[in-house]
Amino acid sequence: MGSLPPPHVVIFPFMAQGHTLPLLDLSKALLCRGIKVTIITTPSNAPTILQYIPKQPLISLTVIPFPVVEGLPKGCENTSHLPSMDLMPSFLTATMELQQPFERILREMSDTGCLPICVISDFFLGWTLVTCRLFGVPRLVFTGMGVLSMAITKTAWEQKPNLISKSDSDTLDLPGLTLPFALTRADLPDSFRVPDCDDSFHRFISAVGHYDAGSWGVIVNSFTELEGVHVSALESFIENGGKAWCVGPILLYDEMGYGSASDNQLYIQWLDEQAVSGSVIYVSFGSQAHVSDTQLDELAFGLHKSGHRFILVIRSKTWTPPDGLEEISKEKGLIVRDWVDQRRILAHPATGGFLSHCGWNSVLESLSMGVPLLAWPMMAEQRLNAKIVVEGFEVGMCVPFGEKSGLVGREAICDVVRELMGGEKGRKARERVEVVGRMAKKAVQKGGSSDNSLTELIESLSLST
Ligand code: UDP
Ligand code: UDP
Repeated sequence: MGSLPPPHVVIFPFMAQGHTLPLLDLSKALLCRGIKVTIITTPSNAPTILQYIPKQPLISLTVIPFPVVEGLPKGCENTSHLPSMDLMPSFLTATMELQQPFERILREMSDTGCLPICVISDFFLGWTLVTCRLFGVPRLVFTGMGVLSMAITKTAWEQKPNLISKSDSDTLDLPGLTLPFALTRADLPDSFRVPDCDDSFHRFISAVGHYDAGSWGVIVNSFTELEGVHVSALESFIENGGKAWCVGPILLYDEMGYGSASDNQLYIQWLDEQAVSGSVIYVSFGSQAHVSDTQLDELAFGLHKSGHRFILVIRSKTWTPPDGLEEISKEKGLIVRDWVDQRRILAHPATGGFLSHCGWNSVLESLSMGVPLLAWPMMAEQRLNAKIVVEGFEVGMCVPFGEKSGLVGREAICDVVRELMGGEKGRKARERVEVVGRMAKKAVQKGGSSDNSLTELIESLSLST
């Protein structure tokens, strides 16, 4: 008698680094459990994905062409390549054209008797649910957000008509949610301020919400010790008793190594040279946010003036350090213009703080490594994440936004960096984040809450197919 083939899972990430990377980690976690994984992507995203996944027979990449659509520059197959986030609606429209090739993939799997036990696809690829239903395959949605931020945005979306008439500073009372802080409209993504409910982006997000609701369940990159109290609020948005599966921080399953930074990377060497542990503040705004060059000037001056050592990662192609600042601060700071291995920086003993835009992956990575955050949210649900980090988890502080121009000045940056790295508030946040970091590691260890949840998820899926 031959042994049973391994269960098969199809993973379809959205083409943005922050959405793809955690699903690659999930692929590795599944692989460690003997599951066969097929990842679907497009040609120019394939090389980066191949860098991260192990070369072994149980994991494979299926590449489908990226559609050409009007208004989207050719070759833009990842949101990190968009010249402006204004092009996001065109990008989303383009990804909808992937439905037919996706259907062909599932049809071929069906014809060869290899249908997966589930498809895990990004919430931006909500239409995958329609195709999954055609083949009777359960679809799990991955949003890349935390439990509370998802529960808040979903509840607020239902309340949107009421929210439009509020002012930014009004405290919101969202039914079904017990919040650890006073929430205002200013904490929500910008779309909650826009009264026009008939634009294509609004329609797209509404449709995505319906697809989420009709899915078999939600995969959440978080852990119950951190956000368990909000799980039932989130699950109330899933029909037919579908569950929210907290299986994170997914990055911590990674026993096979992650990223491509070798020890000879300058920034790792530079960190190794630092004599004092926890003395460096790492500054990065993720893979999407565009920070103006004027703001970068203020930031660089502020960091320099704080007297603390720093690594500043810059995506702007036009920014040059003002007045020879790069030279002056060489001893104290490192400016990096490439993709860095963020996790290695955060895990390095020399790193003691993270000035972050609060993308959810960055938040989780910082928590996991026990590094307190200085929150500087930029867009999407990042303001919400910042609030959750500072007032909910109490593992960080927020950059003060006071000036009408939206520019945060060098003095303010200097003061808040000093407070995080050397002040009383920073000390408290550090103590708390170290506790949270230990909980995170425990959650993914054998028998931990997330590890158990992942095992239970696979068992439930294997039984249902
Ligand atoms: N990242 C990285 N190196 C960089 C920039 C980003 O490794 O130079 C990783 C980071 O560790 C995180 C992801 O890219 O896993 C960014 O996701 P996040 O949710 O923090 O922000 P987004 O880029 O989606 O705004
Ligand atoms: N990169 C990487 N891992 C990632 C994302 C990017 O190694 O997860 C590399 C990528 O191959 C490219 C560089 O980092 O060579 C810059 O990537 P980004 O997506 O930021 O593109 P850019 O905006 O610089 O064109």
